Formats: sequence, structure tokens, C-alpha cells
Amino acid sequence: MASPSSDTPAFFISGNFVSTPVLGELEILEDHLLAVNAQGFIAALCPLSSPKAASLLASAEGNEIEHTELPKHSFLLPTFTDLHLHAPQFLYAGTGLDLPLMVWLEKFAFRAEERLDGDEDLAKLVYERLGRRMIECGTGSGLIFGTINPKTNLILASTFLSLGLRAYIGKLSMDQNSSPTYIEPTPSDSLASASSFINSMRSLTSSLPPHRRLVHPVLTPRFVPTCSDELLEGLGELAKKEGVRVQSHMSEARDQVDWVKETRGTGDVEVFERCCLLNSSTTQAHCTFLPQPTIDHLAELGTSIAHCPLSNAYFSSQIFPLRECLDAYIPVGLGSDIAGGYQLDLQVQMRQAVVVARLRDSQVKEDELARREQEGSTSDDETKDLRVSWKESLYLATRGGAMALNENRVGGRFAVGEAFDGQLIQLVDPGTSRGTGSLDFFDLEVGVEGEGALTFEQMMERWWCNGDGRNRKGVWVQGRRLM
Ligand SMILES: [Zn+2]
Repeated sequence: MASPSSDTPAFFISGNFVSTPVLGELEILEDHLLAVNAQGFIAALCPLSSPKAASLLASAEGNEIEHTELPKHSFLLPTFTDLHLHAPQFLYAGTGLDLPLMVWLEKFAFRAEERLDGDEDLAKLVYERLGRRMIECGTGSGLIFGTINPKTNLILASTFLSLGLRAYIGKLSMDQNSSPTYIEPTPSDSLASASSFINSMRSLTSSLPPHRRLVHPVLTPRFVPTCSDELLEGLGELAKKEGVRVQSHMSEARDQVDWVKETRGTGDVEVFERCCLLNSSTTQAHCTFLPQPTIDHLAELGTSIAHCPLSNAYFSSQIFPLRECLDAYIPVGLGSDIAGGYQLDLQVQMRQAVVVARLRDSQVKEDELARREQEGSTSDDETKDLRVSWKESLYLATRGGAMALNENRVGGRFAVGEAFDGQLIQLVDPGTSRGTGSLDFFDLEVGVEGEGALTFEQMMERWWCNGDGRNRKGVWVQGRRLM
């Protein structure tokens, strides 16, 4: 049988589609028909009542094309992108979080990575469980830190590939300031290992059709303290030569920032930029210590940022300047930072991003009032609003994160020609008409309709606040159903 052409539907889903194509704006497409082709791309998206939908459904008649009709109070949402997590640290997620960053790294993070590098069976167990947990959480893609051993990273890549997840996987590069048993001996060893990892990753997917090549290598200098200048310079050259993305940590915590200043005489940003590791192919995690001129500079360079609000609350003494970065049009997504952050579920990270931005806004306003009082200023100029809304956080978890992963800034939305990566969220149980999971909609239960009834958007907001995994009834990546 000939394979279907790219606009031939392989399956249909009809119902409500919700996404945030633009920051802060919720797009709700009610009663629409989505057609997905055999390669997992969206072939059509149109109102169910339109002539186009009628003709698509008519042409499919007799071909036994699956058509999933979503219940009334359900919707499809793009999958989440976790823009920063350490796969091996899943082993110790939720442990030792009372320690400062540099101590925690030694005691837990490096140890977890070293253990997995020395134990293939454990690596398989942890990576498979991590992938399954990500699917349960509606996370369809991730930008991931691995370990220093290329072989262990290939286990991670093969595991995620077979689970059907989209993953950008980084073999760690680090040649100084680590434990004597978990370090690459020289810059040239480290560079050779990074280069061979890229080749092995390409071999892993070379026999697959392009739309199934869902795992990609990423160059991953751990962070400035553990990388010599020679290594960073070499990685910059390798990234350019091989055309691969780069990820690292930047300007994360007070002790880390001070250490770089003392040992390098300059800051993270300057070091990365000098080594050609800050551009539109780079995603930097954290970036909590960024003054406005540096934010403007990063925007010019096109570098994207993984905001990890839960992790920052533990390991950074500052709150990420999210509003300023969004206003500067820096691509920003959310990261769980497993295991600096203990929670894999990006729904938790969305809430945390909103909470910390609100706290920061209040604090900045209070500081400004105190300053004016002290100076006897009569100015009543409004200070900048630094809060973010729940809709903006939803954008970060879906469209923002997906866009941060490619220079074409595609993904994280429902648009013809783009990959179908979606999660099915159910608000109300169609069998009992009661809220699903932890959700309650009393007006529905007592039959309030029309004017006084909750809008779909209000019901979604309630899900954003109080929903959990029980509301998730399906997950697709590149058109393949994973849950
Ligand atoms: Zn991290």
C-alpha cells in the first residue's frame, strides 16, 4: 500500500482546541475538526460546521479513519515543553534541598550522575520511569542534561525515542572543579567525547524517516565553574561546525556568580559570549542575576532562557526578571530543573512562575515606596507591573518552551503544517457531569445556565489552579498517542 501523502488524514479529532499562540492570549477554538497525517503533522484544522470539515469527513468515509470526538467539557492543549531538566538527577528528586547550590551539587547531583554512568541497568530504570512520568504530566518534549558518559546518554536517547518523546539531549562537558572520579581529564578528551556523542546520536536516528527522528544531540557545558576556557572555546567551534544547539546554566546563584567573578575576573555572560556559546542556538537556564542592559543584550543575541521558578526558590537568592525578559522579546520557557526543582509537573511550575512574579512585583513596589519616603519624594509615578497572568504562564509552558527550542520559532500551538503534539484535558466527567479529579463545578451540578454560568475560560482557569494528572486523558507527540 502506498503511504498517504502529507495532506491525507490518518486520523481526526473533533472538539475544543485551546492554545496560546501569542503571549497572554488564549485562543479557544470550539467545535473544530483536526486532521493529522500519517507523518504526525496537522493537515487541517477548521470549524466542524464548515464545508471543509464536511468534505474531509466525506472523503474519509469507507476508509476506516479513526475519529475521536471529545466530550463537551474537554479540550486539547499543546503538550508542555520542559526546557530544563537533569535526567540522571531524577534518581534523587526531592532530596537534600536545604543545602546551598554548590554543596548540593557535590552531595547529590554529581553523585546521581556518577552512579548512572557506572550502572547501565539503573540508568535504563531511571530513564524509562522519567519518560513515563513526563508523559503522565503532559510533557511531550524536553531539553535535557544527561551525564558525562556518552553511552549513558545514548541509553537516555534510545529510551525516550522508544517512548515517543521529543527530546534534546546533552552529554555533559566538564573538565575542572568536579569530584576526582566524575570529571573529564582534559579539554581535548572532553571535546572528543562531545563530538563522538553527536555522531552516535545521528547514527541512532539515521535509519528512521525524518518525522520519527525525535531525539537530537545538544552541546552541554555544565556551567562556567566546571569548564575551562579551552573547553568552552572548543565547544563553541564544535557547535558551529556541527550545527547543534547549546544549553548550559547562567547567572544562577549568588555563590556561583561570585565564584566565577573571583576565578575568571568576569561574569558568566561575558565568558559564554567570548566562546561563541551565546546566540539563537543557545538556551540558558535560570539567568536570575541579569541587569537590564544584559537582558537587552541577550535579546539581541537571540538566546533563549529556561525559567525554573521552583528551583530558583531553593538555589537562587533572586527571582528571575521574567517580565523584563518577556518585554525584551527573549524566548522564555519553563523548566522543572529536576532535581534542583523537585516537581516534574509543569503545571506546578506554571503556578510557581505566577506566584514568584507576584511576590517580586510586591517587593519592588514596597522598596520603591520606602525609597521615596526616605528621600521625601512626592512622585506618584507608577512602578512597572512585574506580575504575569496564568495565561502567560500557559504560553511559557507550551508555545514559549517549544519556540525556545528552534530558530524557526515553531511548535507549541495547533497550526496546519506543524507537528501534532497535544494533550487531552477533561474538566467534567461526561458520565456523572461532575468535575473530574479535584475540580468542582457546582453551577453545572445545580443546572445554572446562560448569563450566570461559568464561561469555558473560567473553567479552564480553575483547571490551571486546581487541576492535576487526573484531568489528563491523552497525550500525543508527532501524532503518535503515548497515553
Ligand atoms: Zn540545572
